[in-house]
Amino acid sequence: MAARILSGKEFAAKIKEAAGRRAAALCAAGVHPRLAVIIVGADPASEVYVRNKRKACEELGILSDHIALPAETTKAELLACIDALNADAGVHGILVQLPLPAQIAASEEEILRRIDPRKDVDGFHPVNVGQLAIGAPGLRPCTPAGCIRMLEYAGIPIEGARAVIIGRSNIVGKPMAHLLLERNATVTICHSRTQNLAAVAREADILVAAVGRPRFVTADMVKPGATVIDVGINRIAPKQLVGDVDFDAAAEVAGAITPVPGGVGLLTVAMLMENVVQAAQAQMEQGGVEG
Ligand code: NDP
Repeated sequence: MAARILSGKEFAAKIKEAAGRRAAALCAAGVHPRLAVIIVGADPASEVYVRNKRKACEELGILSDHIALPAETTKAELLACIDALNADAGVHGILVQLPLPAQIAASEEEILRRIDPRKDVDGFHPVNVGQLAIGAPGLRPCTPAGCIRMLEYAGIPIEGARAVIIGRSNIVGKPMAHLLLERNATVTICHSRTQNLAAVAREADILVAAVGRPRFVTADMVKPGATVIDVGINRIAPKQLVGDVDFDAAAEVAGAITPVPGGVGLLTVAMLMENVVQAAQAQMEQGGVEG
């Protein structure tokens, strides 16, 4: 295996260390960063994610409220819960764990838009999406922001690099493209209608796979020496997760590569912690927060 393995654990620890220092400074200034996580119903995967977020908060001295609403919660009830958290000056970050149960899933957009953009630590609110698009400060989506932070910590050059992202979702592909562009990469986004995708991928110095298909990226799609970031999480057996990249084969060709598990997923949670402290700090500076 030739590639350098980019360990999510190592880089997540660095992100959390920095967020922990900022959280401590905020506490010293009288503001105790606080995250409220709303989970509706009992989705087993969501429960694992929420547990991990809670654990990270505890580690860093960030307060976290876990608001478990019954599966049959109506849209109006969920919106009322968000309104109450928006109005609570002691809560700095609000996150609605997805997916939502069937009866309210169709209202997901409306529900996420109800979160005060200053508390939108997932970075999904159109205000934050717009801020990212115009290069203005705001809360950035955790997964792509975590990947960028990892590249920076790992010393992998972004400026001038040719970056190819496979996937154009609002939560990964598109924000990843903006973040790379902001750092002066030359960016191409591929999707299900892209022609000659393998040839485009082979041009990448930084190749990001966010497709949701097990081992979609094969070794022949990787330029020798490229950095491969595998965002995918695919459960192919009850206890087996794989990414969107054929890891073993791609690692023979790539210069650096993230594993799954143990890669990008850990960065996402770490970046959420950073977003909570960033939100708390911004709210403190704007006035009107309580510790
Ligand atoms: P989406 O399903 O929203 O988007 C998938 C993208 O892949 C779409 O843009 C789609 O194209 C594209 N795509 C699908 N099939 C093909 C194909 N055959 N050829 C080219 N492009 C294709 O997924 P997400 O962005 O939400 O997630 C992607 C993966 O990342 C998933 O495995 C998810 O579980 C994982 N994930 C991991 C996170 C982490 O913390 N590590 C966080 C978030 C997601 P089109 O738009 O044309 O349909």
